[in-house]
Amino acid sequence: MVSRWACDRCGFVAWTRDPSEMAEVTGSHLLAHHSDALSQSDFRVSWDCPYCATAKTAYDTDGAVAEFKTHLHEHVADRIAGGAHVADRVGWDGVVRVDAAAAGDEADALRTHFHDAAGLVVAVTPTPERLVRALDEALGAWPRRAVIVSTGEYDFEATPDVDFEGRNVEIVELDPRLSPAEVGETVSRILDDNHEPGERVSLEVSVFHQIVASFDVERAVAFVRMLAARLADAGGVLQLYVDADADPNVATVLNFLDETIDLRVAVDDGRFVRRP
Ligand SMILES: [Zn+2]
Ligand SMILES: [Zn+2]
Repeated sequence: MVSRWACDRCGFVAWTRDPSEMAEVTGSHLLAHHSDALSQSDFRVSWDCPYCATAKTAYDTDGAVAEFKTHLHEHVADRIAGGAHVADRVGWDGVVRVDAAAAGDEADALRTHFHDAAGLVVAVTPTPERLVRALDEALGAWPRRAVIVSTGEYDFEATPDVDFEGRNVEIVELDPRLSPAEVGETVSRILDDNHEPGERVSLEVSVFHQIVASFDVERAVAFVRMLAARLADAGGVLQLYVDADADPNVATVLNFLDETIDLRVAVDDGRFVRRP
């Protein structure tokens, strides 16, 4: 679980794994909103709090800015929630766009955060060994059931330390010639066969770039909408791992999915942040 702070002036939300990191997040963010409360003249820097009557003037610029940030933080400190999860933002039911390359550390930080809080994990990934390693390193305990749908053959030599016997994991190899509709059907069947009533589902799609590259815009859009609708029945969070900067076609498809996507998050300096 993480700590959460939501700015009440804009749509910014930050989640930190270490609660003590939040002071830096809130202080910097509020300072950006109130930059005109800080002024510099005659070698001195002054700040005048927009929330209360406190004002300071000092020669030490860095020290004064740090003090102002800490002061701003104190005004919102009681609005920081502990024991939070990014998926709470969508009530554990919706589509989350994760702005991170699927095979990167930032994606691992978010996928382990989501999978850690679910009973059933279904992941469609071109790098199943990477996912298994990330889960094994980050999670105190594996989810009740994990089904990893891989577009390639699983290389057991790549994860020699992972004891599959002791974990409820199934690896399903996907025929790379399948259409998005067939991939969707496979995932739908997996949900039917594995989901227990009331259980949270974390569905990871890390093959979005491949789907966009192999098929037209219309079919890639339909694929995500179909999965979102299918998951809405079971209750769960679909995560789409995308790096829109790396592929203009992916950016185009995401534009069409604007209404389908409920939340957009990224990792910034180790913290999870909501992108507007
Ligand atoms: Zn704000
Ligand atoms: Zn104040």
